Amino acid sequence: MNKVKTTSEKSLPNNSRIVALLTQLEKINSESLLVEADTARYVTSKILHLAQSQEKTRKEMTAKGSTGVEVILSTLENTRDLQTTLNILSILIELVSVGGGRRACILVSKGGTQTLLQLLLGASKDSPPNEELMVQLHSLLAKIGPKGNHSRDKKFGVKARINGALNISLNLVKQNLQNHRLILPCLQVLRVYSTNSVNAVSLGKNGVVELMFKIIGPFSKKNTGLMKVALDTLAALLKSKTNARRAVDRGYVQVLLTIYVDWHRHDSRHRHMLIRKGILQCIKSVTNIKLGRKAFIDANGMKILYNTSQDCLAVRTLDPLVNTSSLIMRKCFPKNRLPLPTIKSAFHFQLPVIPTSGPVAQLYSLPPEVDDVVDESDDNDDIETETETETENENEDDKDQHFKNDDIETDIDKLKPKQELGRPIEELKIYEQFFPELAENFQEYDLVSKEPKPFASATNLGGPIVVPTAGDEHPAEANQSVKGIAVKDRSSLQMEEYNKRPCLLDLPKKDHNKDSLQLQNDQKKLLSSCQCLSQEIVKGLDRITLQNTSKNEQYYSTGCLIKKESKTSLTTPTCNKPCQHVSSCGSGLFEGPSVQLGKLCCTGVDPEEEEDSSSHSSGEQVLLEVPDMLPLHDPDLYIEIVKNTKSVPEYSEVAYPDYFGHIPPPFKEPILERPYGVQRTKIAQDIERLIHQNDIIDRVVYDLDNSSCSVPEEGDILKFNSKFESGNLRKVIQIRKNEYDLILNSDINSNHYHQWFYFEVSGMKTGIGYRFNIINCEKSNSQFNYGMQPLMYSVQEALNARPWWSRVGTDICYYKNHFSRSSIAAGGQKGKSYYTITFTVSFPHKDDVCYFAYHYPYTYSTLKMHLQKLESMHNPQQIYFREDVLCETLAGNSCPLVTITATPESNYYEHVCQFRNRPYVFLSARVHPGETNASWVMKGTLEYLMSSSPAAQSLRESYIFKIVPMLNPDGVINGNHRCSLSGEDLNRQWQNPNPDLHPTIYHAKGLLQYMATIKRLPLVYCDYHGHSRKKNVFMYGCSIKETMWHTNVSAASCDVIEDLGYRALPKILSQTAPAFCMSSCSFVVEKSKESTARVVVWREIGVQRSYTMESTLCGCDQGKYKGLQIGTRELEEMGAKFCVGLLRLKRLTSPLEHNLPSSLLDIENELIESSCKVTSPTTYVLDEDEPRFLEEVDYSAESNDEQDVELVDNAGDYEPSIQEDALSDSEATRIQLP
Ligand SMILES: [Zn+2]
Repeated sequence: MNKVKTTSEKSLPNNSRIVALLTQLEKINSESLLVEADTARYVTSKILHLAQSQEKTRKEMTAKGSTGVEVILSTLENTRDLQTTLNILSILIELVSVGGGRRACILVSKGGTQTLLQLLLGASKDSPPNEELMVQLHSLLAKIGPKGNHSRDKKFGVKARINGALNISLNLVKQNLQNHRLILPCLQVLRVYSTNSVNAVSLGKNGVVELMFKIIGPFSKKNTGLMKVALDTLAALLKSKTNARRAVDRGYVQVLLTIYVDWHRHDSRHRHMLIRKGILQCIKSVTNIKLGRKAFIDANGMKILYNTSQDCLAVRTLDPLVNTSSLIMRKCFPKNRLPLPTIKSAFHFQLPVIPTSGPVAQLYSLPPEVDDVVDESDDNDDIETETETETENENEDDKDQHFKNDDIETDIDKLKPKQELGRPIEELKIYEQFFPELAENFQEYDLVSKEPKPFASATNLGGPIVVPTAGDEHPAEANQSVKGIAVKDRSSLQMEEYNKRPCLLDLPKKDHNKDSLQLQNDQKKLLSSCQCLSQEIVKGLDRITLQNTSKNEQYYSTGCLIKKESKTSLTTPTCNKPCQHVSSCGSGLFEGPSVQLGKLCCTGVDPEEEEDSSSHSSGEQVLLEVPDMLPLHDPDLYIEIVKNTKSVPEYSEVAYPDYFGHIPPPFKEPILERPYGVQRTKIAQDIERLIHQNDIIDRVVYDLDNSSCSVPEEGDILKFNSKFESGNLRKVIQIRKNEYDLILNSDINSNHYHQWFYFEVSGMKTGIGYRFNIINCEKSNSQFNYGMQPLMYSVQEALNARPWWSRVGTDICYYKNHFSRSSIAAGGQKGKSYYTITFTVSFPHKDDVCYFAYHYPYTYSTLKMHLQKLESMHNPQQIYFREDVLCETLAGNSCPLVTITATPESNYYEHVCQFRNRPYVFLSARVHPGETNASWVMKGTLEYLMSSSPAAQSLRESYIFKIVPMLNPDGVINGNHRCSLSGEDLNRQWQNPNPDLHPTIYHAKGLLQYMATIKRLPLVYCDYHGHSRKKNVFMYGCSIKETMWHTNVSAASCDVIEDLGYRALPKILSQTAPAFCMSSCSFVVEKSKESTARVVVWREIGVQRSYTMESTLCGCDQGKYKGLQIGTRELEEMGAKFCVGLLRLKRLTSPLEHNLPSSLLDIENELIESSCKVTSPTTYVLDEDEPRFLEEVDYSAESNDEQDVELVDNAGDYEPSIQEDALSDSEATRIQLP
């Protein structure tokens, strides 16, 4: 009684009728035996009346604090009167029918499930059970089970099973098949039960699958509601492998297809889309098992679903049918292995030491042919034992909620600095030679005079340019003769197919050059033909005239580098104005009478913009002046360098864009908006290959594994080539007249890592859309799905004064295909597939030579050329520049180490002292060969550091820069995507680099260890990378506190005192560099990254500001470049802005300046914000900037860029409710479509 009083006093008005009735009912409950059943019946019917007629009543009964539901349930338990029971069930149905699940939750929380199940058990004992009672009871039960995203009673199915209630509903349906009024609510309850896999198996044993097939049937307008529920139930039941097998055994796959076709034919007005989709859902469930897929193929399912979905394409409301059909067909598409003899790289490099463990050891210990095993299973469905155990199931619901990043390092001991050197001091002494600046006294220098000396007078500039070779003891001449270069003379050029490749150099391979006389001739030929070649090019350049340059302007005098008549017109700052629609550099370059080609003209630093950004930063006036125009590109020098570049396949050709150079195009390149339906169209075309096999040409037109592969001289066939530095095409197969499948080579000494591509195409016609499919990509998603386009360079365009890489391609799409990945190449994971990137291109010229690349190529030879040009052009009076060879790579290429700082003002003691005591900044890039953007950023950094602007001078006076611009030369040269020749990711070797297998890492780390021993730790370490799945440029750093925040350990319990200084540089960059985005930065240390440069340099070497800087391959979604794809101009600008950021950092870290600008003081707030983020962007990338496509139904989620761990691969199996949402969304967007 007290309870009721409380109720009436606290939450309900005293005059409420419902309260009075409930009080009366409660009284009846306590005296149930004494009171006539009539009274309870009367009271409950009154309550029912109120509940039916007044929302107010329903509200009161379910209001917080009300005991109405409890009282009702209590009556339900006690009463033996059927009418009272029915009244109460009706009341409860009224209550839970509205309120969006909240009221059902109240019923559940008061123990309603248990009461109702007990009632069901009791009622089922009557023979026959009371129909009305069963209808009401099931109607109510159906409403309290879990449904969609609303969790009512999550344990409903389990409770029903424990109470032995499952078969009651099943038997009711069996016995009353014609009684639709009764079986509809029963089926609704069965539908709920079936979502629990243990229940599904249990019900399956009792014949529920067969029962559902009695209910679903051919097209009939009657009882569609019943049909729909039965289909939903069946789809849920068939997710159990046992049930699916049972269905296959009984021939139900065929039945489902027949029913589907029947509905497809008769539902001409598309009123029953949901039923048709329900049938497809059943097929989708049953084809999860291999037997099901086989039955589907045997029943001609591919053709049936292909044809029906073609019919549906025209009607947008039928998209869910097309999409589900597409999903099923892709799943059932017979898995093929790639048409390759082996997935191991086509080239092998003999390592000096074979590691005892690791990927390479594994690869080479495998018996031959083992990689040919194609394993057909999907997600372990071959396991015959039923793994659907109860414990597994009970936890299912919790999985999502407790999804957290277990990659975050939680071991504080692994986060704390490691106080040991790793290598003995004596051994580190060898690195002393790389720090001559610390011993230089400049007594030899005449530094008092401020007059700049003529550049040519520098010691290393006299005479011909000496091509440094990696440890090559031969004089340059002898070296040339070993790797002689011959260019066909003009007449032979015209006679051969190479006449279409005006600048392709055909270098004979070593083996062919046995006769030394021949070699000398070759050399002579080379010299003359180089000039000849230059003239060729120049002739082709319409409005570009060749100008003879005087010998004393060393860097302008080489070969076909064409100098602009008036130096000023190119070097004026107008060139660096922000490129509006037509960039001034582009137009200026070609409207003038002559041009300096190959100059990558903008360093991208825009002086106006720099003023803008500095003006609001507390009076700091860093005026970026235009750096000197540095004509860093020199085709002839490039050729010279290529001759000394050692590739595993011994490439003898040079790709035209690398030879000729490129400039950024003078127009904007927006991020593409993908038209609706691209993916399914492309997938449908792939399915057609299976259905119309006779239409497929299947002709191999390029094959690295088969040198005798020759292309028939038919006018219609494209020619492919990628036998040049950084190229990596392995095989091309013509599929249809204008469609080609391309296969990329694996990284050398590896059997996977394909994503980067660079190849040449010729023999094209105009007015034709050529479709290219690169069919062995590995990442589970790509920016190609979010507006990124591949790059194309047309030689004819270049000769027509438009030498640029441009973003091209339509119908671009990246999707999982039916080529099966061997588990050996997929980290042991079975059932993985490759991905296809497809794009369609129309070529601008007939018989052109065009190049395609994943991103702007930047070869090792290009780096060597840029470094030589920088060295040859610098003013040693101003800039102290050194290029040393850090070490040789496995293939014998040199790994350059660059030192840049300002030459001291004089050789007076104090000036030399200031010089030696400047803090170090250590930079590196391109450890991952496929991330060419990192090299372009590095180029921007190098050019800025070598420029003559006062800011650059000030920067040089502030720091000594140690730069390893390419940590993985061998990988870059050989067209690898990820690894070095050791077949390993070098950015996972920093903890324990092997001097024989990872020399560049071993010695780069050695340099840093040496710096630590001499107490000259760099202020900043930064490793430049590219990111394939995110937009903008951002940084990863290391912070103990921020890492601990992501764990359950509270930050307070972490007694580490941490300086927040690691946030300053990224913060500065977010304010100054337009492409940089602070919110994408992360300072969390992940376990999987413990052997990366960033983490090791931070923890082992002790550099607090140790970063990875990631640049997008795609474009920006914020800032000045929002909506645009990124180009080399923007990347180089980023590199320059990074330098400017360092200058500001210096001011902030200077002991004289303690006043931090207020903009940096919001760090605390950001820290708090970031600590709320559950996920780390480096690992569990949720990529909010990448909304899923509506049609994107079979993509797994994101993967870790640096690891490619596929986390969630179940996107194809989402719940119908989500799909329905997607449908309504797509309908909304469609209104705008024509
Ligand atoms: Zn990387």
